[in-house]
Amino acid sequence: MKNAQQKEQRLAYRQALMAKKAVDYMFLPPDEPYCNRKVCSDCYVIKSESFRDRVRRSETEIISDIRGLVEKGYCVLPITTELLMFSRFIRILEAAESKRLLTNGAEITARPGVLGDLKMIGVRQITLTLDFGNSGMVRPDLGVAMDAWRRIENAGIEPMGRITLNKLNYMKAGEMVDACFKSGIRLLQFNRFMDLSGQGRMLKTTDAREVFEQIRLARQKYPVSKGGIYVSAAGGMGSVYREKKFECEAGKTPVAIGMDNYVYPCIYLTQEENRIGRFEGGEIIIEKTFGPPGDRLECPAYRYLAARND
Ligand code: SF4
Repeated sequence: MKNAQQKEQRLAYRQALMAKKAVDYMFLPPDEPYCNRKVCSDCYVIKSESFRDRVRRSETEIISDIRGLVEKGYCVLPITTELLMFSRFIRILEAAESKRLLTNGAEITARPGVLGDLKMIGVRQITLTLDFGNSGMVRPDLGVAMDAWRRIENAGIEPMGRITLNKLNYMKAGEMVDACFKSGIRLLQFNRFMDLSGQGRMLKTTDAREVFEQIRLARQKYPVSKGGIYVSAAGGMGSVYREKKFECEAGKTPVAIGMDNYVYPCIYLTQEENRIGRFEGGEIIIEKTFGPPGDRLECPAYRYLAARND
């Protein structure tokens, strides 16, 4: 019953996202430090080109921007380094009407009381970044994330794990599902590493085929109907080898408001040449369309970054 309810909630959330125009609103804590840990080597906030010309926004301005966008009918996703570092994180989530958030877990371990606040405003799901030490990247500590996991679960909120895959660890996707299942994790998503700073090791389309095959095998091994683990792949993994195909409309929905108040097609596409408009006086003003070359079933951010980095 619990699984069926959670599945329904996830479906409803996806439908709500699709019904409205999605906006990723990027912002930083007003002052340094910008994160509560050593910055991840694949951080899409700090590595974003929009970070360079960032506009300083107070928490009040952030809340007001998000509220204004929601009032205009947008579905707003707050995108930042570590949301729980903000003194008014509850107001930010309320303004976005968001029932989900992403965290590295450190604030939850340090201040478990935040879970009570999150529950009070109806937060239903918390995604934790997981890294098994096989990605070669600087990433959040697995022990901290697992400690946070237990606390989230005990608080009655659904935890989800997110693992970033690159050339070093993608062949171990199945093994990581095994490890997650043994640790009690029942909701897991794989994410494709997006190479924003020329580090290399981004998965090619053919590598994504292997990931989908490992997901298929994991679903067979741990069926959700028998208390198994729900494993999925984020949009960035593309659709070429996905069972249910979709074409991402980055630049129409979603769009991303960068930290420099320019509008971009996606949080991974915040390069100067990909600017499609401006965010001015609370309005999203679109001036250009976006469409990189390549297979439309493949993620547009991957298509652009692969062409740029080759
Ligand atoms: S461009 Fe890729 S990462 Fe960005 S929203 Fe589309 S599928 Fe997701």
